[in-house]
Amino acid sequence: MIPAETSYDVVVVGSGFAGTLLAMALHQHGRKVALIERGRHPRFAIGESSTPLANLLLEEIADEFNLPRLRTLSKYGSWQEHHSDIACGLKRGFSFYKHTPGARLRADDLSNQLLFAASPNDRISDMHWYRPDFDHFLVRQACELGLRYEDEAELTEATQCNEGVWTLRIKGRTEPITCAFVVDATGPCGWLAKHFNLPVRGLPELPAMESLYAHFSGLERLDAIDPQFTQCGLPYPVDDAALHHIIDEGWMWMLRFNNGLTSAGFILKPNVAERIRTSSPQALWDHLIGRYPTLARQFQNARAVTPLYHQQRVNFTVDQIAGPGWAMLPSAAGFIDPLLSTGFALTLLGVQRLARTLISAPPTEPERIAYQQQTQRELKATAALIGALTATMPHFDRFRDLTLLYFAAASYAETMRRLGRPGLAPGFLLCSHPGFGPEFLSICRSAIDDPKRDFSERIQRIIAPFNVAGLDRPRSHPWYPVVLDDLFASADRIGSSREELMAMLRTCGAL
Ligand SMILES: Cc1cc2nc3c(=O)[nH]c(=O)nc-3n(C[C@H](O)[C@H](O)[C@H](O)COP(=O)(O)OP(=O)(O)OC[C@H]3O[C@@H](n4cnc5c(N)ncnc54)[C@H](O)[C@@H]3O)c2cc1C
Repeated sequence: MIPAETSYDVVVVGSGFAGTLLAMALHQHGRKVALIERGRHPRFAIGESSTPLANLLLEEIADEFNLPRLRTLSKYGSWQEHHSDIACGLKRGFSFYKHTPGARLRADDLSNQLLFAASPNDRISDMHWYRPDFDHFLVRQACELGLRYEDEAELTEATQCNEGVWTLRIKGRTEPITCAFVVDATGPCGWLAKHFNLPVRGLPELPAMESLYAHFSGLERLDAIDPQFTQCGLPYPVDDAALHHIIDEGWMWMLRFNNGLTSAGFILKPNVAERIRTSSPQALWDHLIGRYPTLARQFQNARAVTPLYHQQRVNFTVDQIAGPGWAMLPSAAGFIDPLLSTGFALTLLGVQRLARTLISAPPTEPERIAYQQQTQRELKATAALIGALTATMPHFDRFRDLTLLYFAAASYAETMRRLGRPGLAPGFLLCSHPGFGPEFLSICRSAIDDPKRDFSERIQRIIAPFNVAGLDRPRSHPWYPVVLDDLFASADRIGSSREELMAMLRTCGAL
């Protein structure tokens, strides 16, 4: 319980992983912080799959803000060693398979697949975070650090006086809390958007996609129902990944945890439910699974262990992200789509930026504007990419070409950050890079307008200066393992030496 009439420098509203991390970072730098949660941990949360950049940001935040216990959560190996009680899943990369209704998926059909490794081995691999455990652990850490945390706390009133000081009232508690700054970490269309009555908009880059998801037990691995999916030369076991099934109606994710559960869900084009004349999430689910024989086989013995959640609209943005005395985390300001797991990285970039500003004082107006503009730029770039990928899903070769924009930008940004030169990779997806950013947007917009058009040469030209992952190498299959020689081959191009790259790889555990 927050003691009566206590005032704080910052109140963070929402204790998902992002709000809790920010609150801890500020607390460690001497700010007086309170963290307020409407619900109670452990609780179900969607958004589970991390990426190399998200993990690197977690590492950077842990180092910069003196949170050493969190650093061990940034790689699968150290997570298993130090936190085996927190469930997670092994994510070696991104697996994509394109399905045809009524037909079994065939492993030997190379035209229908794309496998992109994100790590060279399990030890330094990414994870799927089992959010009930992960978020609960972070909150316990926050409490151990001595930070004020209130759960089951519903804000009923929030007022700001002329000097900017906030007074917040919690349902059932008589004494208010005051603070100089509030951060909205309450997730999509959250607390401040409602408080300020901000219009919540869709995105011009992609339709209003729906989602339908749950956690399941007994969901079979693809490589268990058909041993052909263990064929020679694969960069990693295809299920130890964010497994994406592309279908006519949209796409499906499968994320396996090490506690026997799997997160699975659909992202669907609008009106799928209407077209098959159902308003029942279960009927929609059964219809979709039934249309695709390989999915039906994987789900044959599966049982949902959570409700089946149906979200009518996944993507959204709000126009205002920060103002005098307040800011939203990127996850409260907008969301695009789970494809390519961009949510964590976008959110953690926001956590890092806000923490850096808020450790000294409430942000100045220019700082708030810079934060808002950067967040909007990054959401826009992500929307353009996901819009283009969604448009090209029916034309899978084009889809595969476009993913190279993401993999080039992500691997270059990770390399530059690890080399201590983050300024050379400005913005998520290099969106603030004067060369890459505008070209990237232009290709994505053209692909949205004309998804059948071949952009492969243009894409190769744009990614060439940033290619640290052998993305231009001719290959006989659509599989991209991590090959360290590709990085060494790029040394001159990225202004580095072999020795410097070796040292970086040793530091991050890849050697
Ligand atoms: C279907 C779907 C799949 C996704 N998959 C991925 C993925 O695989 N990878 C990825 O990187 N991203 C993914 N995302 C995005 C990801 O979910 C978010 O980036 C992430 O959850 C943001 O975390 P958060 O801590 O900011 O917010 P949340 O996890 O949403 O937590 C918000 C917290 O605020 C609390 N709260 C809400 N309202 C109030 C209130 N009024 N007062 C107090 N507390 C409140 C809630 O109870 C909750 O605990 C996905 C998103 C969706 C919709």
